[in-house]
Amino acid sequence: MAETTANTEVKEAAAAETSTARPAAQRPARAEAPRRKPQRRRRKVCVFCGKDAVINYKDTATLRKYISERGKILPRRVTCNCAKHQRQMTSAIKRARHLAMLPYVED
Ligand SMILES: [Zn+2]
Repeated sequence: MAETTANTEVKEAAAAETSTARPAAQRPARAEAPRRKPQRRRRKVCVFCGKDAVINYKDTATLRKYISERGKILPRRVTCNCAKHQRQMTSAIKRARHLAMLPYVED
């Protein structure tokens, strides 16, 4: 019994070793890259938060700010909207698209 447990321990150790060793080997050499100074980047806040502004599908002027050149909806990491307002914005854009007030694609 003791022999089998020892055997599994060895196997686990070997597995752990390979799993930890692989990413280090695959990782590109970053030592030569210049160390970037840690900048404190200000997190932009959602422009709709704190206001009573309701995102309206008829307000295409505002919605146009949140679509790309190709007519795609910009992601949250770009718009910096909070989840709630991004969701409202997305449905407003989709509603406006259905009414042909905004394009589905723009080329
Ligand atoms: Zn918000």
